Amino acid sequence: MIRTYKYRLYPTNAQDRALDFLLWQGRLLYNAALEQRINAYKNDGKSVTYPQQWAYFRDQRHENPDTLGKLNAASVQQLLRRLDKAFRSFFRRLKAGEKPGFPRYKGRTRFNSLEYRHGDGCKLKFDAKHRALLYIQNVGDVKVKYHRPIPDEARIKHVVLKRKNRKWYICLQIELPDPVVGEHSGPAVGIDMGLHSILASSDGQTIENPRWLRKSLAKLRVAQRRLSRRKKGGARRRKAAAQVARLHERITNQRLDFWHKTTRRLVDTYGLIAVEDLTLNFLTSNRHLALSAHDAGLGMFRQLLAYKAESAGVRVVAVNPAHTSQVCSSCGELVEKTLGVRIHRCPSCGYTADRDVNAARNILDLAVKSARTGPPGVNVAGCGVRSLGSSLL
Ligand SMILES: [Zn+2]
Repeated sequence: MIRTYKYRLYPTNAQDRALDFLLWQGRLLYNAALEQRINAYKNDGKSVTYPQQWAYFRDQRHENPDTLGKLNAASVQQLLRRLDKAFRSFFRRLKAGEKPGFPRYKGRTRFNSLEYRHGDGCKLKFDAKHRALLYIQNVGDVKVKYHRPIPDEARIKHVVLKRKNRKWYICLQIELPDPVVGEHSGPAVGIDMGLHSILASSDGQTIENPRWLRKSLAKLRVAQRRLSRRKKGGARRRKAAAQVARLHERITNQRLDFWHKTTRRLVDTYGLIAVEDLTLNFLTSNRHLALSAHDAGLGMFRQLLAYKAESAGVRVVAVNPAHTSQVCSSCGELVEKTLGVRIHRCPSCGYTADRDVNAARNILDLAVKSARTGPPGVNVAGCGVRSLGSSLL
């Protein structure tokens, strides 16, 4: 099992400059390697290979110990491989008759990460007071906000050093032994991802869009308007752009935090969680188009849910969401309603509920039916169409 742990770094001023210097050198090297490839292609239609480039830049590193030489060798190899990959896909698309553009040069703001192998120019360690430090070659020991301890049995494989909005982060990719988990014995639940309430569950609970999110989004809109009024190339525009970036970052963090807590509660409580299959959203394009405007972070929800469910022995079943909001979850009658209608009221059996709760009950129903017929863990969207279809015809 591979997991990524992300931490904020707190470099000193001198370390901050040293880190900037490394990224700058990384960018120069990337662009030089790109130029080499473009020239070779334009001049004699040939491609330069990764081993050729590595041989060349290895020598460059030795000849320039104060500039390129400051970069870790494995980081350079990683950079050249990144470029190699970009070129391979360029040639693949060319061959396929498409018109791909050359991989592009990286501008000052477009190059923000370096990769390391853990233990090679980069290592997590602890001082005498058990404070976490990240050793980075040619930078020194940088303070780490170690908010989440890495399990003892984990092995750190890969390290990505990142700069974002003038802050520094590391992402540690760690390998953990696969967990041995028994099946979760909790009850089953259906979850509808709605417009009005972000989540509604089949047992009648709804979660509204958090107020802080609405507030932050409103602030973002104001900042974006301010940015669009500023003249290009000016210092005032740069400042406004930085503010927009900061707000984006804050919203992402708030959402992430919110979904972490929400999905944690779900996998602690339930043994089977039925959700809509978002890959089938062509069926519900209208509904999800509206959703994407709101962007309640549904992708985040699904990703975190899958991730947490895996290590908790909880089953996540995705069902085809077609008609789930229209059919009565009590008697199967089709009760058509527009998006504005918040309450499901069945004229046939009298069942009344929040429209999203009704949808969540249908989603659960589909998942339970398919779980009975299909093998465990399989995406059973197809079964759902049939069982609901029958009540529609
Ligand atoms: Zn009914």
